[in-house]
Amino acid sequence: MNQPFLWTGLFVIAGFAMAQTKNEPQPIIDVHLHSVTLQTLKNDVRTPLPIPELKPSESVEQHIKQTLAVMDRYNVVLGLVSGYDYEIGEQFRQSAPNRVWSGPQFGRPRLNIDTLRMRYNAGLFSVMGELTMQYMGFSPSDPGLDPYFSLAESLNVPVSIHTGISFSGITRVAPNFRVSLGNPLLFEELLNRHPNLRVWLAHGGWPYLEETIGILLVYPQVYLDIAVIDWIIPREEFYAYLKALIRAGFGWRIMYGSDQMSWPETIGLGIEAINQADFLSAEQKRDILYNNAARFLRLTPEQIAKHHGKIAK
Ligand SMILES: [Zn+2]
Repeated sequence: MNQPFLWTGLFVIAGFAMAQTKNEPQPIIDVHLHSVTLQTLKNDVRTPLPIPELKPSESVEQHIKQTLAVMDRYNVVLGLVSGYDYEIGEQFRQSAPNRVWSGPQFGRPRLNIDTLRMRYNAGLFSVMGELTMQYMGFSPSDPGLDPYFSLAESLNVPVSIHTGISFSGITRVAPNFRVSLGNPLLFEELLNRHPNLRVWLAHGGWPYLEETIGILLVYPQVYLDIAVIDWIIPREEFYAYLKALIRAGFGWRIMYGSDQMSWPETIGLGIEAINQADFLSAEQKRDILYNNAARFLRLTPEQIAKHHGKIAK
């Protein structure tokens, strides 16, 4: 006799729960952020962007503050930040130690193995990369990097390596940059020499679709991020690439990244590109914006619960 009331009650609770999840912002992980130097900010005033109204931050302090403010606005609960200047990277990490994991950015390593190991052990670094050997004119499988990958392997530190392309006209400022060195197939020797390395393709290997699929298929430890291609290339092209990766069965290996560089506002542009993709289910969006990175970065159940507001942050 009480059943209809019970059912009504359940619907009310279910409806409330649904309304709550709808209104509550879901957590997002951005696996591709940078700290930048003042010189970079100054140079980037002249960098041609497809969105001319975007302006670089005016100082290192403002860049950190604005990046954290956009993270707040979109509920980005964790950001992986790398930069060439390790002191600025540390300044960034200390501004929000619960939300920032820091990593050294380098093409040719500037720190020796022992110094680097000390920084990981001290918790100053938690990831390795973004590594940018493509800009210096050599392959990710260059044997000179082996000791660094062995270190990452032994510390179980995830590694991010730049793939694909760069700005139009990049070789005028980085004369050793080569498009061919962004081909994900160049990862193959490195992956076989370091089978336990957790590595991801920064910028998702675009535009090397077939090569990226080949690498993802054969090497299950490899993930990718969609940084920069989610806001800088034509939207239709980004969606076609994303769709093709999902069609090939890799929706569970794609992680959100912005690569905000000097322009913190771009963090939101990339997130909106995912939210507006009507070919993605709500579940696929959650995977890209949070779940895949949480799995790849091996977050603990406690960290995940915190990110979802289930435990006080
Ligand atoms: Zn990059």
